[in-house]
Parts: sequence; structure tokens; C-alpha cells
Amino acid sequence: MPADRGTRSRRTPQPRPSARIAEPGSSPPDATCQWSEEDWSRFLTDRFELPIQVSFGRSRSAPVQARAFETSDGQAGWQLRLHKLFAAAPEEVRDALAKWLRAGRRARKAGPVLDEWIHAEIASLPRRAAKVSITPVGEAHDLERLALPLIVGEFANDFRPRGPHERPRITWGRRARSKSRRSLRLGSFEPESRVVRIHPVLDQKAVPAWFVTFVLKHELLHSVTPSYRDAAGRWVHHGPEFQARESAWPEYRPALRWERQNLPRLIRSARLGSELRVRPADLALPQELLVQRDGIRQHELPF
Ligand SMILES: [Zn+2]
Repeated sequence: MPADRGTRSRRTPQPRPSARIAEPGSSPPDATCQWSEEDWSRFLTDRFELPIQVSFGRSRSAPVQARAFETSDGQAGWQLRLHKLFAAAPEEVRDALAKWLRAGRRARKAGPVLDEWIHAEIASLPRRAAKVSITPVGEAHDLERLALPLIVGEFANDFRPRGPHERPRITWGRRARSKSRRSLRLGSFEPESRVVRIHPVLDQKAVPAWFVTFVLKHELLHSVTPSYRDAAGRWVHHGPEFQARESAWPEYRPALRWERQNLPRLIRSARLGSELRVRPADLALPQELLVQRDGIRQHELPF
């Protein structure tokens, strides 16, 4: 028996069903019964009188897979990979699987019993969440680095451990040409997956870091002030709390101004996939973000 199976069962101790098999009258409902890989192996090996090694898997398209193998002393046996659901299979299904393995299609009753159970169980499993690819490091800007001062600053009391909200994952959006000539969605927050996406058109040297940070901050603010429906049933995405917090940021006005001035260039760049030309103005920090401190002009924002 492979070593990994031993470790796995040590990590998750399973109640032994052997006592229940010996006393069927006292057994609890089958749904609560848990069969380990070892229990299954023993059960099927006893039925077949040849070695059967069972391991659990997660394949929904092939919940029962079998292949022949040879033991070290030359005995032929089966390696069986069963969906983890079989850990809670009722008696009838265990029996059907054994019969079906023995007789294949000739097992007229066992086949349908097995099929029906597998279908129903797999259908009842939660839908698998689509895999989200998270790429915070871009060519010009690293979103995680820009987010860090926000997480410990503006959102220190919003996100865990001090705040109530789970910190969203942050990523650049997929690099695909945009079709629109009139608008561009610079960022988004998806509540289900808690993912903040920033449009990759902003991942260019000509887009100042403080502006990317503003877009990121706007989306992070969405993640802590959920959208809601007003009395008339309309969705409110930027409610009073959202607006109050956002408009208090020193970069709020400069960011709106930068966006207004540069949106046509950004739309064009997103449509054509062309690079934005860097202009000296892109690299300068707006006046509003400069403060006089200890005789040195610094920007007061942590980016
Ligand atoms: Zn918004």
C-alpha cells in the first residue's frame, strides 16, 4: 500500500465501519456512514478475493476509474479511483459497485443503481467556482505594492483582522482589445469572488502610479461599501457613505481631472493596443498632492 494513503488516513481519522457491518441492526442512517479508502479496499478485496486498492479522487466526469496492476508477488489486482462521494455511499450502492465490477454490463440491476446514485450525488455538489487568475504584477505597475499602503492606511479598519471585511484579491484584467469608442471601465469589483480588477490599459509608464492607486482605492472602497437597492428598487453603487469617503481623499479631484483629460487617449490605447506616449505632465504630481513638510516638498500620500 503506498505510503501517502497511510498518511492521509492518519490525518483524517475515519470511524471504522466494520462494527456496523457486523451489527447492521444498530447502524445509523447510511448518509452519516463514512468509508475510508482502506475500508473500501478491504470490502472489495473480500468480495473479489483478489487485491483491490481504492483511492479517492475528485473527478466528476469519471467518478469510477479502474486499472489493472500487479502486486509485488505477481498477483493481479485492481486499482480503483472513486469519487470522494463514495466515502458516504449507502449499502445498496456499495453492493451495486461490487456487482458491477464483477459482471460489468451483465449486472442488469447494479448498473442503473450505481448510475442513478452517482448522477444524483454529483448533481447535488456545489458548482465549482470558475478559476480566477490573479496577476497583480504588471509591466509598469505592481498593484499589490500600490495596495499595501491602502490596506494598512485608508482601509485599516475595514479589512480583517481589525475590520469586518475580507480583503479582496487584486489583479490586472485580461489583456484584450476593447471595442468601445466612448467608454472604458478602468476598474471593477466582483462581490461573489471578491476580486478587484484593474484595466490593463493603466499598466503603462504614461499612467502615473498615483492615478492607478486612485482607481484601485475606488474599487477597494466598493468592496467595503456594498451596493444596495434604493426604495424605488434601483441599484445604488456609490451611496452617501461611498461618496463621503471618496470625496475626502486629496487625490479625488486631481484623479477626476486626470481621467477627464486622458480618457480619449486611454480609450484609443485600449482599442488599438497601442502604447500611450509618456508626456512630462504624466510624471508630475498634481499640486493638490504636494505638501510642505519640514521645508521639503513631499507628497502626503503613501505612493
Ligand atoms: Zn465605482
